[in-house]
Amino acid sequence: MRGTSKYRLGGPDDPLVIRIMKRKGLSEIPFYRKDSPKSEKFDVNAVMQRWKLYTPRRDGAVDAKRREGDDPSHISALIKAKALALGGSDVGFAALTPIMINVDSEFSLRSIVSVIIAEDYGKVLQGALAIEKEAFEVYVECARVSTELAAYIRDLGFPAIADHNGTGDIQAIPALYACGMGELGKHGSLIHPEFGAGYRPGFVITDAPVTADAPNIFGVQRTCENCRICEQNCPPAAIRSSDDFIVTEGVKRWRVDTAACYEASRFRDEYCHICVDVCPYNHKVNRDPDRTAIFKAFMKKRKKAGYRTPAWFIEDEESVLGTEPNILD
Ligand code: SF4
Ligand code: SF4
Repeated sequence: MRGTSKYRLGGPDDPLVIRIMKRKGLSEIPFYRKDSPKSEKFDVNAVMQRWKLYTPRRDGAVDAKRREGDDPSHISALIKAKALALGGSDVGFAALTPIMINVDSEFSLRSIVSVIIAEDYGKVLQGALAIEKEAFEVYVECARVSTELAAYIRDLGFPAIADHNGTGDIQAIPALYACGMGELGKHGSLIHPEFGAGYRPGFVITDAPVTADAPNIFGVQRTCENCRICEQNCPPAAIRSSDDFIVTEGVKRWRVDTAACYEASRFRDEYCHICVDVCPYNHKVNRDPDRTAIFKAFMKKRKKAGYRTPAWFIEDEESVLGTEPNILD
């Protein structure tokens, strides 16, 4: 099956980010600069190398003697239990379709497993660098978990190939949506009922017989019609209004101005994750009292910052707002 999704290369190889860099007359992208002010505390390039180390192990030999039969509910239960035991936070299954695959990629396998790993929401109170470290470390975990899960499925007797940041053949949003991981929010990320959009994904493409999940519709897009929190907190106003959307394969997608987002998320030293962290779905469905307390404390900081914030989006915002230890520690 050939992929049909247009895609952008991630990280510093993204053509859009390179175009902006040239337009600005820069020779490097500030976020990935090796001598940036943050590099003494956190080496983002070294972490990216760590997830790439998993790439050669994404595929391997399949155990010829199937130990567990071909019953989809049994095989699905085994894979789900293994994914959770490896450190996954939630797991779902779907039939693989062309829109889930990048246009230059091709798979002959028929199903996809999505495994997500939640980020520690408490990091939002410790400033942008703590959030960035958490996000990148969770990406490494996604590479590890998807790689080990693919190996497990091959040991069950079925072909299985891992996909993660170090491989990049799968389009996360359509795969996660079909696997029942949640609904697409106005900020462009898929919202899970328990973790909001505060998680990172890994995938396994496989021929194991699995029971497909259904999309998980729990009212997000209805809420987004009237909620403007991410819009009002996005520093470069990259998130558009409720009536600026397109529909792809029946799914509403609000437009996000990616070039504008990059001003805040690639052309500063610090990471931007604000739209995800201000979303009420961090606590709205799970009603977790700890997450609710973190959300309220974080929104107090956003208010102190003036919500959208620029002049021009204060670098090292925590030096202005102060950091708070995780209030649950
Ligand atoms: S990451 Fe930051 S700049 Fe980008 S859309 Fe979200 S809030 Fe806006
Ligand atoms: S902050 Fe509001 S508008 Fe934005 S994704 Fe979350 S619910 Fe939707």
